[in-house]
Amino acid sequence: MTKIELIEKIWKGIWRVGLTFYLLRLGLGGASILLSEKIKDEKQLENILIEESSKLNLNNKKISARFGKASLGTGSSTKLPDGHYKIILDDLGRNRATLKHELYHIYKNQFNHNFFEYFFIDEVQATLYESLNIKL
Ligand SMILES: [Zn+2]
Repeated sequence: MTKIELIEKIWKGIWRVGLTFYLLRLGLGGASILLSEKIKDEKQLENILIEESSKLNLNNKKISARFGKASLGTGSSTKLPDGHYKIILDDLGRNRATLKHELYHIYKNQFNHNFFEYFFIDEVQATLYESLNIKL
């Protein structure tokens, strides 16, 4: 095997592992969203926000959540310059799992991360928490 062939082989391997990893994450995330409690109105959203925030000891943080158009996927969370946090749940994200996912990003302060940190660490951690309550 030449050096080039070896590099190609390793590269293909990395892609396969990455793809498998991604598909598992999508599957886990998808399953948790399907099985999760749906949130039908603002009142319920407010109650679940309080309940889930306290599980992560986030009661001291200012967090607001609303239904709307998320920038990416089923939900989004942003840290505002004044230190407040804003969560938006998209139509597909109107459920407890997505809210837990976004709260986990806040809990771990996963903002301003680069693509690799976001994709391979933050998203995996938040997905494990939303679906299996695992805190990594
Ligand atoms: Zn996420």
